[in-house]
Amino acid sequence: MKLKFTLLLLSVSISFVSGQSGKQNQFILNTIEEETVKYRAVYQDLHRNPELSLMEFETSKKIAKAIKELGYEVTTGVGGNGVVAVLRNGPGRVIMLRTDMDALPVKENTGLPFASTSIMKNAAGKDFPAMHACGHDLHMSVWLGTLEMIARLKNQWKGTIVAIAEPAEEISGGSLNMINDGLFARFPKPDVALCYHVSPELPAGTIGYCSGPIFAGVSNCDITVYGRGGHGAMPHKTIDPVVLTSRIVLDLQTIVSRETNPVKPAVVTVAAINGGSKNNIIPDEVKMLMTLRFFDDEVFAHMKEAISRIARGDAIAAGLPDDKMPLIKFSDEATPPVINNKNLVYESVSYMQDILGKEKVIEVEPAMVAEDFGQYGLTAEKITIALFWLGGVNQEKYDEYTKKGLSLPYLHSSLFAPDFDPAFKCGVKAMSRAIIGLLGNKAN
Ligand SMILES: [Zn+2]
Ligand SMILES: [Zn+2]
Repeated sequence: MKLKFTLLLLSVSISFVSGQSGKQNQFILNTIEEETVKYRAVYQDLHRNPELSLMEFETSKKIAKAIKELGYEVTTGVGGNGVVAVLRNGPGRVIMLRTDMDALPVKENTGLPFASTSIMKNAAGKDFPAMHACGHDLHMSVWLGTLEMIARLKNQWKGTIVAIAEPAEEISGGSLNMINDGLFARFPKPDVALCYHVSPELPAGTIGYCSGPIFAGVSNCDITVYGRGGHGAMPHKTIDPVVLTSRIVLDLQTIVSRETNPVKPAVVTVAAINGGSKNNIIPDEVKMLMTLRFFDDEVFAHMKEAISRIARGDAIAAGLPDDKMPLIKFSDEATPPVINNKNLVYESVSYMQDILGKEKVIEVEPAMVAEDFGQYGLTAEKITIALFWLGGVNQEKYDEYTKKGLSLPYLHSSLFAPDFDPAFKCGVKAMSRAIIGLLGNKAN
C-alpha cells in the first residue's frame, strides 16, 4: 500500500515536471523560426564585418547593444573588448554562457553573398584580410538567440545568467584577460560555465559531446639550430645546420612514439624549417617552429624536457661547442586543455536530447585542437565547465563528402562556411533547454 502511494506520488511529480518541460520545449519550438529570421541578419552582418583579435571594437559594440535590448545589465570593456551581461531572476544557480568574438587573418574564398572583403590592421599595425573562419560569428548569433529565449522564458526558472562575449580567443589571451579584469569578482560568480564551438565535421542540426578532456592544451616551441656555415662544395669544413636540423626533426618523432605513455595523447609537430639563402652556401643557422599538444601536465613537462635533450644531444653529436647549442624557446603561457565536467555534460545532454531527440546529441572523441575556454575551469573559484561541439556542416554536403571519402574544410580554412539556419536552430534549442533545465523549474 505504502509502495503504491509512493509510486503514485512519483508518477504525479514526473508528469508535472514533464508537463513543465513540455511547455518550455513547445515555447522554444514555436519561437525558433522567428528568432532564426532575426539572427540570420545579425549573423550575416557579423560575417561581413569580421575583426581580428584585440581589435573587436565594432563587434563588441554591436553585441553590447543587442544584449541590452534583451533586458540584460551590460558592462563593456572587461579584459579589453569583453562584454559581460547579467540577468538576475531570484535565488538559484549562476550559469555562465560564453561566446567568443574575434576573427582570423584569412582571405575568404567561400563565394558567399555576404563574404568578408575586409582588410584590417592587426594589433601590430600590419594589414591583413580578415574572415570569421573559426565560426565565432555563428557562436555570437547562437549566444544572442539563446539569451533572448531564456529571457522570454523568465517565468520558468530562477537564478542568474552571466553571459560573456570574449575577445582575443584566437591568440589565447581573452579568457585570462577577462578573469584578470575581475570577471569572477565584479560579477556574480558562476557555478557552471557553458559554451559551444562550431564543428566542421558534424552535420548542422546535431551536437557533439565529450565527458572529460575535449580539447588539448597547446604550447609553441621555437628552436634556432646553430652550425658553422661555409661553401656548399666544402661541407667537410662546416658543421651543417641543415643536416643537423633534419636529424633533430626525425629524432623528435621518437618522443611520442617511444617516450610518452601511449594511452596519454601528445602531438609534436615541426611546422616550419627556415634556413639558408643560396644553392652553394651552407648557412650558419636554421630556425624551426613547432606546436605541442597534450592533455596532461606531466606529458607536457616530459615533452619539453625531451625536446631540449634531443636538440642538445644531436648538436653535441654534430661536434658543436657549448656556446653553439640550440636556442630553445617555449611560449611563455601555454593554453590549458579543456576538461569538461562529466556530471555537467551528462545533465546538459539529457536536457538537449529532451528537445532535439536522442540521435541528434552524439558522443564524440576528444580533439587535439585548442580553445582558451579551459581557463575558466582552472581558477581558484573551481567553476565546472562544459564545451559542446555545435554541428555546422550542411547535411547534403556532409553526405556527399562522406560518400566520396573527402575531408570537409576545417576550422581556419578560407572555405569554412557553416550552414546557418539548421545550426542556429539546433544550438539555440539545445542550449536554452539545457540552461533552463540546469536552473530548475521555478514551479518546483
Ligand atoms: Zn580558431
Ligand atoms: Zn574558435
